[in-house]
Amino acid sequence: MRCSCILTDLLVKKGWDWFSINRRLFRKWNNQIAMSTELTVQQVLDAVNTGLGLKTFAPVMKRVAAAVSGPKPDNKSLKDLIWCDTALAMNLLRAANRQGQYDDPVVDIDGAIERVGTQTLRNLALSTEFIDIVHGDEKATSEYDMLNWMWERSLFNATSAGVIAEKLSAENKDHFHTLGLLLNIGAHFLLNNFTEQYLPVLDRWRTEGGLLSDHEQHAIGIDHTLVGHHLAKTWNLGPIFEQVIRDHHKADIDQSDDPTMKILCLANHASDIFFIASRVGSIEKIIDVVKQNINIDSETLANLLQRISLEADRYSYNVSSGATAISSINLLRIINTELGRATLTYDQMVHELKQAMKKAETLAIRLEDANKKLREAANIDPLTKIYNRRFFEEFLSWNFNRSKRYKTTLGCMMIDIDNFKRFNDTYGHLTGDRILQGVAEVLRNNLRGTDVLSRFGGEEFIILLPETPPSSVCFTAKKLHKAILETSFPVDDKSLSVTVSIGYHCYSGNEGQNIPEPKSLVKYADANMYRAKVNGRNQVWPSNADDLTS
Ligand code: GH3
Ligand code: MG
Ligand code: MG
Repeated sequence: MRCSCILTDLLVKKGWDWFSINRRLFRKWNNQIAMSTELTVQQVLDAVNTGLGLKTFAPVMKRVAAAVSGPKPDNKSLKDLIWCDTALAMNLLRAANRQGQYDDPVVDIDGAIERVGTQTLRNLALSTEFIDIVHGDEKATSEYDMLNWMWERSLFNATSAGVIAEKLSAENKDHFHTLGLLLNIGAHFLLNNFTEQYLPVLDRWRTEGGLLSDHEQHAIGIDHTLVGHHLAKTWNLGPIFEQVIRDHHKADIDQSDDPTMKILCLANHASDIFFIASRVGSIEKIIDVVKQNINIDSETLANLLQRISLEADRYSYNVSSGATAISSINLLRIINTELGRATLTYDQMVHELKQAMKKAETLAIRLEDANKKLREAANIDPLTKIYNRRFFEEFLSWNFNRSKRYKTTLGCMMIDIDNFKRFNDTYGHLTGDRILQGVAEVLRNNLRGTDVLSRFGGEEFIILLPETPPSSVCFTAKKLHKAILETSFPVDDKSLSVTVSIGYHCYSGNEGQNIPEPKSLVKYADANMYRAKVNGRNQVWPSNADDLTS
């Protein structure tokens, strides 16, 4: 009993008596019951699906406007406000869990703030809808009073959940605070979006007692836990939110084994002590349930409740201390100005991002260019500007496999400049280089686009002729030999010429040909070139393709 005395003192001191706060209000709602138009489940679900949200009330928005305006925005105050306001927290979590953007749902306010970033946070806070007392508008005033009550109740749920989670050594106190804050989003949503129909339901609950859910089911066919569940699902809050919002009344704390569910049910009961105990007259019963489940004595429980109350007070103070007398019209003006400023900053950010992307695109083009040059450097011979041996070997291997598979012919030709050492000795190395360039050019000009000419090394060239029969390879070899023979290379004031020895071979893709691997083909072409040398140089070997043996 000592416990209930402490609690009664606490309740009286705080003035949280349901009857005394809202007597005036309930009289008004009673009159409205007869007038209210009927609400259907479909209308509620449609409202959820079309994205209607939650509203906060004017004092909170006055603090939001104060926190984000001015030259140095106060992010700490803004975060504190979100910590105690269901609508702000909801908008934030909704943005942080926007479908398709993230794999894992974010489960607490700090995590959500970190995810969306300060700029979006300010935009979200400023664009939250709010209601205010409008003198002469009874409906708006009733909604305002009721929302005020719900706001405090949600804050108590949040602080209770946080404090109890800590007491029971649960891991993430902040996560429980957030869950507690959003526990009754269903009722909050119904009050904001179907005020006329929902206020009488709340009133009937107050006058007749029983469970709020039963009254809601009877009047609308759906209750706030299911509406909340549907909201959590639509807004992608993740399975934990969906479950606790749906089951926080249903799950009996004595039976629930799920520790999260147990903490949230206890938190709900703890707030009941402050908010509805005097109405239902069952304060002892609630105290018993809480005591049983967290196994504490009356004094510890009273201390725990005192802590919850103090913590909730601390958060409320953040709101009330900023609730200066600004009219709604002025508040809207301030918010719009700040929102405009925030959007401007946002536009600037988008502009900067676009610039950065443009820069990145230019860099990507340059990178592609550099890569192309690197690729060329890796494949092209710097002196003659034809392919190098590395590229040739890759090309050979690819063509060899193709030839083997489709049984097509592949010709290979080795070309070596005759007595080039002597040439260098006579005319100098630089002149030799010019001749190498000239020979490469003559060869290239006398080949098909599908043939691949490479510098094999020193004064040796190699040519691969895909899908070319031996007779054509022989014909091409003779054509190249003749072209070199007939070319005079002008170097300085001289006109110089060289001869070449050419050996070739062909692969037909047949197994019996004794060409087991690509380099065997090169080996045979090289051997034939050697024969041309031995046979007196300046010639093609064999001079008739029918003489090819391997
Ligand atoms: P053979 O008719 O038997 O082929 O006689 P050769 O003198 O052409 O053959 P050898 O292999 O004895 O010498 C090849 C010469 O090719 C040696 C070198 O001076 C020359 N050579 C190799 N690479 C280059 C080059 O990049 N530039 C120049 N100017 N000469 C080169
Ligand atoms: Mg040589
Ligand atoms: Mg040579």
